[in-house]
Amino acid sequence: MTNNNFLLAVILQLIITLIIFIKKLVLSQKYHLTRYLKDKLDENKSRKLKKAQDQEIYKQESLEKIERKVGKETYKEQVKNKKVKIKEKNKKINHIDRKGKPKGSKGGGRRNPSYYDRYETLEYKKCPDCNQAFQGKRPRDTYFRFLTDLIYEKRGKRLIVTKYEIRGHYCEKCKKIKYPKIDAPPKARMGWGLITWVIIKRVCRKMSFDWIISDLVDLCSEKISKTTFIMWIRKTAKPLCRIYKHLWKVAKKSNYIHIDETGLPINGENWWLWVLVTKNVAIYHVHSSRGHEAIEQELDGFTGIIIADFWSAYNKLDYEQQKCLIHLIRELEKIIYDKLRKKKGLQQKLQDKFQAEKNEEETQSSTTIKRKRGRPRKLIPELSPEETSLLKKDISLLDQTIWNCLLILFFFKNLIHQYNEAKKNQDNPNNSSNIQLLSFEDIKNSLDSLIKTIKKSGVKDGDLNRIIKRLHKFENSLFTFLKYKDVPPHNNPVEQKIRPFVLQRKISGKFGSEGGIDAYAIHLSIFETSKMNKIEYNELLNLVFHEKWEEVLNRLPN
Ligand SMILES: [Zn+2]
Repeated sequence: MTNNNFLLAVILQLIITLIIFIKKLVLSQKYHLTRYLKDKLDENKSRKLKKAQDQEIYKQESLEKIERKVGKETYKEQVKNKKVKIKEKNKKINHIDRKGKPKGSKGGGRRNPSYYDRYETLEYKKCPDCNQAFQGKRPRDTYFRFLTDLIYEKRGKRLIVTKYEIRGHYCEKCKKIKYPKIDAPPKARMGWGLITWVIIKRVCRKMSFDWIISDLVDLCSEKISKTTFIMWIRKTAKPLCRIYKHLWKVAKKSNYIHIDETGLPINGENWWLWVLVTKNVAIYHVHSSRGHEAIEQELDGFTGIIIADFWSAYNKLDYEQQKCLIHLIRELEKIIYDKLRKKKGLQQKLQDKFQAEKNEEETQSSTTIKRKRGRPRKLIPELSPEETSLLKKDISLLDQTIWNCLLILFFFKNLIHQYNEAKKNQDNPNNSSNIQLLSFEDIKNSLDSLIKTIKKSGVKDGDLNRIIKRLHKFENSLFTFLKYKDVPPHNNPVEQKIRPFVLQRKISGKFGSEGGIDAYAIHLSIFETSKMNKIEYNELLNLVFHEKWEEVLNRLPN
């Protein structure tokens, strides 16, 4: 039984699979058939289309042929075309127009000048790489290049156009044509002299581009656009990057760095220009932030002292610091000035009151006086006796605040004076004055006792309170300069280095782009540093442009 059943089941299974197989086969056949038919139809269609197109082309061609035979203009055009082709061929041979856009497209940019002042032929006498002699051989290839450059002559600067005939000799050993090189930026039509002149005008003399353009026109009636100037500054900043990095290294080796920051408008956004100054290096650093993160990473590896103002970003930097005492003095002076003005206002009020009383008496005594013409006299609100006493109290309070501020001001002014005198002694031992600076601990104690006496009199003024709080908060970074010999107590050097940039900002208003300002900052850093080290910037640039790195680094501080 079971055997039979099993057999039946197997047969059934077989039949089912067979049916499924046949169904699949039929379906696939159907699919192939429809596809075949479709393909055939498509083919027919495309064949017809092609035929039609061919016919169309044939028609056009024959039309053109007829036109050529009949019309004279078409013949002229043909000749013209031929001439253009010959010209292009010649160009290829002479290598006049080898760079830039694809062949046949319109040339852009500055055209070759139609005149030239000098004509120079350049060719190698032997291969610069393998010393194979070229003498007696004809050059394989010749091309021309125009170079406009500012040349310094006895009678002054002069813009000169030189036409170079550059002959290339084929070296059989190197299997290459060797062309001599011109002393100019690659592919440029303007020479180093002119580029350096523009950079000096812009970076060192802080001129606006418009001024430079008109100066150049005055000098030699040559007009170069602002965008070209910006491109020069950008391109020349690239090799200067190497020096810029070197400056950072040198700065980080220093005992101390002055740091300050100033607003930098770029394209409507406010960025920040951070300025770092040591004894012999100035660095300008562009960043979008005014927070400590703008310089924290850059300072990695520095172990010295930071001299800065009271801006909160500096408190987050983990370095021993000297707060700028001149900043403190300036703020105290401002507070004193404001308080004095306020006092004057209050005193005026009191005086007006007396005047009003006096006037009343006068009008009562003589009623016959005619009324004066013009605007009626301002009515002064009468002060009650209470108000008067309040006013007097306010004035005495202001007096007290002013006095206390003056005490702090004199304390720091005296300290700066002592520092300056001591420094004079240091620089010149023959100096007659003999002031010795107090020690760090002594001066801290004397400031403490001063604050205590001020507090005893009662600090009711907000500004004075703020100053006292600040003195407490920074008590350890006010007199760092007394601990180390060459650390100054103020940030004057960096403020001096910010000034030229502020001048440029006034002239230019705003800066166009980040890339441009970065390049400008690199130039300014190296220019200000070379000024500090008595190096002529144009000489330095000349060395950089000719890649004489060793000499450059030798001249700069290490
Ligand atoms: Zn060679």
